[in-house]
Amino acid sequence: SEERSLNFLEEIIEADIAAGTHGGRVHTRFPPEPNGYLHIGHATSICLNFGLAKKYNGKCNLRFDDTNPVTEETEYVESIKYDIQWLGFKWDNELYASDYFEQLYQFAVTLIKKGLAYVDDSTAEEIAAQKGSTTAPGTNSPYRDRSVEENLQLFADMRAGRYKDGEKTLRAKVDMAHPNLLLRDPLMYRIKHEHHHRTGDAWCIYPMYDFAHGQCDSIEEITHSICTLEFIHHRPLYNWFIEQLGIFPSHQYEFARRNLTYTVMSKRKLLQLVNENHVSGWNDPRMPTISGMRRRGYPAEALRNFSDTIGIAKRENIVDISMLEFCVREVLNKTANRVMAVLDPLKLVITNYPEGQVDHFETDNNPEDETAGSRTLPFGRELWIEREDFMEDAPKKFFRLAPGNMVRLKSAYIVKCTGCVKDEAGNVTEVHCTYLPESKSGNDTSGLTVKGTIHWVSVEHAKTAEVRMYDRLFRVEDPSNEDGNFKDYINPHSMEVLEKVYIEPSLATAQPGDRFQFMRKGYFCVDTDSTADRLIFNRTVTLKDAWAK
Ligand code: ATP
Ligand code: MG
Ligand code: MG
Repeated sequence: SEERSLNFLEEIIEADIAAGTHGGRVHTRFPPEPNGYLHIGHATSICLNFGLAKKYNGKCNLRFDDTNPVTEETEYVESIKYDIQWLGFKWDNELYASDYFEQLYQFAVTLIKKGLAYVDDSTAEEIAAQKGSTTAPGTNSPYRDRSVEENLQLFADMRAGRYKDGEKTLRAKVDMAHPNLLLRDPLMYRIKHEHHHRTGDAWCIYPMYDFAHGQCDSIEEITHSICTLEFIHHRPLYNWFIEQLGIFPSHQYEFARRNLTYTVMSKRKLLQLVNENHVSGWNDPRMPTISGMRRRGYPAEALRNFSDTIGIAKRENIVDISMLEFCVREVLNKTANRVMAVLDPLKLVITNYPEGQVDHFETDNNPEDETAGSRTLPFGRELWIEREDFMEDAPKKFFRLAPGNMVRLKSAYIVKCTGCVKDEAGNVTEVHCTYLPESKSGNDTSGLTVKGTIHWVSVEHAKTAEVRMYDRLFRVEDPSNEDGNFKDYINPHSMEVLEKVYIEPSLATAQPGDRFQFMRKGYFCVDTDSTADRLIFNRTVTLKDAWAK
């Protein structure tokens, strides 16, 4: 039932299975660094790694890449686990790079014994100078030829805390003239007297990404280690360590990072937005984080569909955010119940409707879903309608309320506008109309057809709510690629709060996370700050089109 063609990773995997590589076994991993909340780019990587494992009856590990004690926190670990589960995936093993610190240390000792690693006293600046450039070979460190015994002793002393941060490093002895600069004696370990979120103060030396990542993959016998394109030049080093150690040959594959228009995606930048209060937190509904999107009302299914629809690329690209919004609408159209809410209220008085009389109209919850059932709407003489649905001097094609015009009140009656009331300043305060009793929805014998249908809420029965209208967080498509600081391009109007909106009474019991279509207005969901006393809705996304009928 697969409709799309295989992506390049699926092709590789199917070829490996056919060739019996690793016994035809598929084992992937998702390796987040717990230094921030996951964003939509990570969602792509999650869907890819867990999706491939599922498709090929393999396994996928969740491995926290927690080798940098300074930026990592348990709060981030918890949020990452929650987000992956919410996206609909289950990991086979929950693992931590820090669990392998002893093993990685022993690997380093093995390389020292083979004469392939040495302790260097050079400063960071000296090491950078030794590296040379793409056009010039590097120069050997003066410490490069230390004996194995001395290196073993110094490395043990580094571990034992005899040295201060930066005083010594452990470097791989590869080739200071290698065309790939990453192979010019790369760092394996640095000294950091820092508390680690899991290992506490057990270690004061920490492995570099390049020395940790491939070895962790290998320890877990990962068959296909998928990462983003910027690591392509690291692959020879990834292979070098594995080959020199003679351990399980995991293989690295690269795909293009997912970028989205009108946002930024690096955790470092997102952290600045949080710390400098440009947003309310990592889960602010304007953030491109999974938690922000969840709070905004994006369904997990929409994020999964987005990842699958866009596919994976081998080249850097930037995807239009409207593609994501399309996926969100597609899911919500099928699943969100339709309700009536008046965002910018104006009172409509039906002058020929008996005072005090209340009618109840049955209405479908979701015309796209027969199982969604129906509810009743109370109706009375006074209703709230949208201010924009009335015009005193309307052009010919205005099919809503204007003196002399007829419209249908959704699920109720056809009404005819007879005029309006204004205050001293000339602002319209009430619209007046009469209703046609024989035009009752579902039992209409009036013989009339009207072009416009509008939504409404009974004044007597309406509940109130706050509504937060969101727009793009940035004013430009690619804020990271503009002159100056990305924060200069923040959209100052990315959130507009409507303090008092009238909603139909069925919404009184809506719970945080519940999603609705506010007819003609868009998709909305109940915010996590919402309480029974003070309902708060987030606008998830606008409707593609206003109602046609
Ligand atoms: P950031 O720069 O946002 O901090 P990162 O790559 O440092 O990203 P990690 O926590 O290391 O973040 O990422 C975990 C996994 O998710 C990695 O395999 C990484 O390649 C992948 N990933 C991160 N960002 C993206 C993205 N924008 N698109 C696709 N995959 C991504
Ligand atoms: Mg990383
Ligand atoms: Mg990072």
